[in-house]
Amino acid sequence: MKVLVTGGAGFIGSAVVRYLLGSTQYCVVNLDKLTYAGNLESIPESLHDSRYAFERVDICDAVELDRVFNVHQPDVVMHLAAESHVDRSIDGPGDFIQTNVVGTYTLLEASRKYWMGLSGEKKSVFRFHHISTDEVYGDLPHPDEEVDGELPMFTEITPYAPSSPYSASKASSDHLVRAWLRTYGLPTIVTNCSNNYGPYHFPEKLIPHVILNALSGKALPVYGDGSQIRDWLYVEDHARALVKVATEGKVGETYNIGGHNEKRNIDVVKTICALLEELVPTKPQGVKAYEDLITYVKDRPGHDVRYAIDASRIANQLGWKPEETFETGMRKTVQWYLDNQDWWQRVLNGDYQLHRIGEHA
Ligand code: NAD
Repeated sequence: MKVLVTGGAGFIGSAVVRYLLGSTQYCVVNLDKLTYAGNLESIPESLHDSRYAFERVDICDAVELDRVFNVHQPDVVMHLAAESHVDRSIDGPGDFIQTNVVGTYTLLEASRKYWMGLSGEKKSVFRFHHISTDEVYGDLPHPDEEVDGELPMFTEITPYAPSSPYSASKASSDHLVRAWLRTYGLPTIVTNCSNNYGPYHFPEKLIPHVILNALSGKALPVYGDGSQIRDWLYVEDHARALVKVATEGKVGETYNIGGHNEKRNIDVVKTICALLEELVPTKPQGVKAYEDLITYVKDRPGHDVRYAIDASRIANQLGWKPEETFETGMRKTVQWYLDNQDWWQRVLNGDYQLHRIGEHA
């Protein structure tokens, strides 16, 4: 089966590509514009693998998308390419509208044109799998504010109420995907997932940022009072869920994916500090305890209070559940950053981009 993965050089996309290449039944076409978030060094498995092809293409470029579909003739599209960082969407929403909304529209149209030209089994197996976020649902009440009754969770029928330019652009793209199914019959599936963490995460995101700052004795910034709750999922569990949905999921279905790991941001930071105390007891000069580096900073505008996913549909229909607990996944993640200084050092000093331009411009 040939899978076209958009955004395959990003954090989650690269985990999907690594997972697919781990099985001989898949060929992968990685289509990525290589923005600041794209890093081909996150897919060492792709080197010298004849089942892998890379296309440096912008999903807003209709002509190039047509060329890629015609040349590679994929069986499945897994669409992960996006602008994904909430803080960046607040500072500059334009790129988010362009890539997440216009880019998804352009990719849907290219997929539809390609799919319409298929026949027989190739046409009936084709799937367009759109990868989205639980942030489209807005947020949930904090446990401290609940008086009685069970705490609600996001289900697949929770109404959309996005808070940030990022989540609003992803919500728009989800609506486009569903409209292309309903109007044109394009066989689409949507997944909405909670926060991911794990290896190859770009250092601007909370968990790698805290690990790397702690290792160099810098402040560990925590928004507001750190009480916001996220439902954390180890990225390799997500990649496994995504491939299951793309290959076995029901057309027209939406699946929520989550880790059953609701944690306050401050507790995530404290967990990292505790793991570092154990794994790297020799601290940077002047640091007595990693936790002493925690610094509370002004909260993000519109900061969502709590996310929590009810992932029972994917468990019941497809038999997927996460393999990592928060404790095992965090330990693996911290250990990965300790063992892979080369990777993150090249990201921090921008060398991954030199590599990218040198090889693929
Ligand atoms: P990322 O920012 O790490 O990677 C995005 C990738 O898309 C990069 O490789 C980038 O170069 C590429 N890209 C950006 N604009 C492009 C364009 N116009 N054309 C082609 N490629 C382009 O993102 P991620 O964290 O891996 O997220 C992947 C997807 O999963 C996104 O759609 C995101 O909304 C969704 N998601 C992320 C999380 C999370 O916790 N990170 C959770 C749920 C859902």
